[in-house]
Amino acid sequence: MKSWSPVEVPPLHSRYQLSQLSLTNSKTGLIQVIPAKSAYRMYVCGITPYDATHLGHAATYLTFDLIGRYLLATGSVVTYVQNITDIDDPLLERATRDGVDWKELAHSQIELFTSDMECLRVIPPDSYIGAVEAIPLIIDAIQSLQKHGSIYPINHDYYFSNSPESTFGELSHLSQKEMEETFSQRGGDPDLPGKLHTLDCLVWMSQREGEPGWPSILGTGRPGWHIECTAIALEYLHPDPIDSFLIDIQGGGNDLIFPHHEMCRSQAKVLTGKELAANYVHAGMIGLDGEKMSKSKGNLVLVSKLVSKGINPMAIRYALMGHHYRDDQMWSEELLSKASSSFEKLKLACSLTEVQETSILIRAITSALANDLDTPTVIKLLDNWAEESLRGGTGGDSDDLKTSLDALLGLKF
Ligand code: ZN
Repeated sequence: MKSWSPVEVPPLHSRYQLSQLSLTNSKTGLIQVIPAKSAYRMYVCGITPYDATHLGHAATYLTFDLIGRYLLATGSVVTYVQNITDIDDPLLERATRDGVDWKELAHSQIELFTSDMECLRVIPPDSYIGAVEAIPLIIDAIQSLQKHGSIYPINHDYYFSNSPESTFGELSHLSQKEMEETFSQRGGDPDLPGKLHTLDCLVWMSQREGEPGWPSILGTGRPGWHIECTAIALEYLHPDPIDSFLIDIQGGGNDLIFPHHEMCRSQAKVLTGKELAANYVHAGMIGLDGEKMSKSKGNLVLVSKLVSKGINPMAIRYALMGHHYRDDQMWSEELLSKASSSFEKLKLACSLTEVQETSILIRAITSALANDLDTPTVIKLLDNWAEESLRGGTGGDSDDLKTSLDALLGLKF
């Protein structure tokens, strides 16, 4: 699938020596240093295109954009892959509910998502892969699992057996009961008769009446979600055989830890004998005015709506960076308007000829980012610098700051 337009990322001046980035690994619960490497492999789970980009999506993709920018600024290459689940139950259900063709719904929502990402200056993935286009490689992955004895049929569907995989649960740290409950709440079927293990997941669903299907050696049907990401990540990120893991970072919102990422790592372990990711990185959820933001509550704040109301997308970035990526955040109009006015102050300060000292500021920004992407500290530093510059501070180089903010934070004035 065509990715969105490239974003030009200027190089950070060589006088800034960056520390190695540390990030919280959900598997260990620890903030861990990402070891220095010339090239990193990052996979971030993409959208199911049935609803437009809301701030929860924006916050997640912004998080991985910042991670990618930091790694790029250290001089490394980042290969970034993202999928789009352009065939799945929620998409078909929404299309039926609204009386629209599922392909048209997917197409329109992908368009909206990519234009939102462009507005927000999120660096596009190198490979942006739809589930439908990936069906042949997903089938290959299922067949490989089958050779390992990990696939079994129930009626005409196929399931992946987790039972022989002893490390299952080591990412999410949930008890068996919690896993079953969460699995059930998030589209799983722990109680389905015929399953070998309650937490086994669907990898191929036979075609249902009135639904699309693709011919395959497993019969006409469509792929399950977890195997989609496993297959795409392994195919497009070309794991290095010398590594003890397959990719450097697997990312997404924290609602993907279980079952999605747990299932992906379990499948990857059976396929390769290796841990899927060296680091599992997860972003918090976003609520609105004290409530969880959700499609069912109808309280989604859409990026496209904010932009159409005249909100500067850079102010949205600025507002989202005011919270730590791992924390669940509560969004409000007040928060956005405060961030917009802070961003305008920063913009004004950056337009001055004489500004407050900047090289110490830039070093402080890189240190905060290196420390598990501490963007709240970065925003405080920038707010203070803007105040001081507007009060007549001197000794800085606003062009250097603007280049650094563009490179590291994706902010452009
Ligand atoms: Zn995924």
